[in-house]
Amino acid sequence: MPDVLNLIDGALVEARDGGWRDSINPATGEPHTRCPDSSAADVDRAVSAAREAFPGWSSLPVAERSDALRRLADLIDEHRDDLARLESIDQGKVLSQAREIEIPRSAANFRFFAGAVEHAASSFHDMGGAGFNYTLRRPRGVVGCIAPWNLPLYLFTWKIAPALATGNTVVGKPSELTPATAGRLGELAIEAGLPRGVLNIVHGDGAVVGHRLVEHPEVGTITFTGGTSTGARIAETAGPLFKRISLELGGKNPVVVCEDADLDRAMPHIVRSAFSNQGQICLCGSRILVHRSRLEEFMEGFLPRVSALRTGDPLDPESDLGALVSREHLDKVQAYIELARSEGGKVACGGRRPPELPDRLDGGAFLEPTVLMGLPQSCRTNQEEIFGPVVSVQGFDSHGEAVRRANDVPYGLACSIWTNDLSRAHGMAARIDAGIIWVNCWMVRDLRTPFGGWKQSGVGREGGEEALRFFTESTNVCIGFEP
Ligand code: NAD
Repeated sequence: MPDVLNLIDGALVEARDGGWRDSINPATGEPHTRCPDSSAADVDRAVSAAREAFPGWSSLPVAERSDALRRLADLIDEHRDDLARLESIDQGKVLSQAREIEIPRSAANFRFFAGAVEHAASSFHDMGGAGFNYTLRRPRGVVGCIAPWNLPLYLFTWKIAPALATGNTVVGKPSELTPATAGRLGELAIEAGLPRGVLNIVHGDGAVVGHRLVEHPEVGTITFTGGTSTGARIAETAGPLFKRISLELGGKNPVVVCEDADLDRAMPHIVRSAFSNQGQICLCGSRILVHRSRLEEFMEGFLPRVSALRTGDPLDPESDLGALVSREHLDKVQAYIELARSEGGKVACGGRRPPELPDRLDGGAFLEPTVLMGLPQSCRTNQEEIFGPVVSVQGFDSHGEAVRRANDVPYGLACSIWTNDLSRAHGMAARIDAGIIWVNCWMVRDLRTPFGGWKQSGVGREGGEEALRFFTESTNVCIGFEP
């Protein structure tokens, strides 16, 4: 594939000092493209371009901005096959996940926010005879959008779309592990006719490019998705500078299988929630809590289904799981499986490299879907985010205990509850500390709803109204009447 380039001030450019970094195909361990290894100077150029573009972009009629974003959405759709293939090669995900879910959703992000701003209203407060108030919502200026590697284009555009739709200009920083589709987005933004400087994309290391973006005095707003420890570093830098930050961080999401759950119906969804994208979705269910009266039956259904999943070439339509994002990440996930053993856990299935992979994939980061059992709630394996194809199954004796265990981790991103008892579902949903609760479903998304986490899973909310508020600053105007 051709080199990935930065998009700065409407032009596709190399890093100023000419540095590059290889992007590795995690299924083969071989480089498949390279991207600029940018420096703080490249970020500074991008921020200047964004600052200069801001007055023009923010004062365009809303419909014109929205039309530009819809053109970009149309181009993403037009290039869906190419983008999906790139995403699969760059990240290791199976092609169908990219083609059927992630790339269409990237286009949908632009269309959704293009429409949302056209229908947005701000508030009005009547004070009777004394006067009234109306609230202006104005774009905040240059926004820094920092994205992770797990759903590269999907999550990058989930930030860029609302930032641009509300009239801000953007400097985006994709993950250095998965730069390819962000590179294509830069090309498509030019083709869509986005005015120069409105969207800038700078590739490179998080500690260099990401950090410069966070500390840059002209970037007042940072939206970040990634690991909790990186989020803490960003908060530490941005806090004293009084920046507005949104942090979407890690998770350790429970799946609660109640006494009355319809297991036939639930099972395919629970398998999907555990192993989609090799378990590398922040919303994946990684702790399965099953009412003890159904535990044996659950395992009888679950283990054969998990063992039947095929792990292999991400481009092969027969594969259910592809590669993990990198060898380093695979090492980290495997270390957790060893840790689980040392904590007294049993590997009920998986836990190793699939034995029959083609030679071409010798250097790839593959791991069979893995199920752990027999671990206490308090152990590290049940408390820390693993972010791989590894789930732990625990039994519980009462639904109150299930709620306590669901909450007994430092995270609070998502939860799924499987039950046919209506009042139990509502009661649990009101007591589990998580930003998203699914009842009898998983990963069903409505872009109008608030998205984000409790506790160490994040600060702030994305989606719908929440995003429109985050990317705008309010000014209340009070009109007093003559007495
Ligand atoms: P990461 O924190 O390592 O990197 C995320 C991004 O931050 C990358 O672009 C990286 O280059 C950049 N970065 C790194 N150091 C930085 C710094 N000091 N300053 C500014 N930017 C910096 O995360 P990752 O490994 O790419 O992603 C996996 C993590 O993301 C997991 O913990 C996962 O749960 C989380 N995640 C959360 C959500 C959510 O919505 N809550 C969604 C997806 C992923």
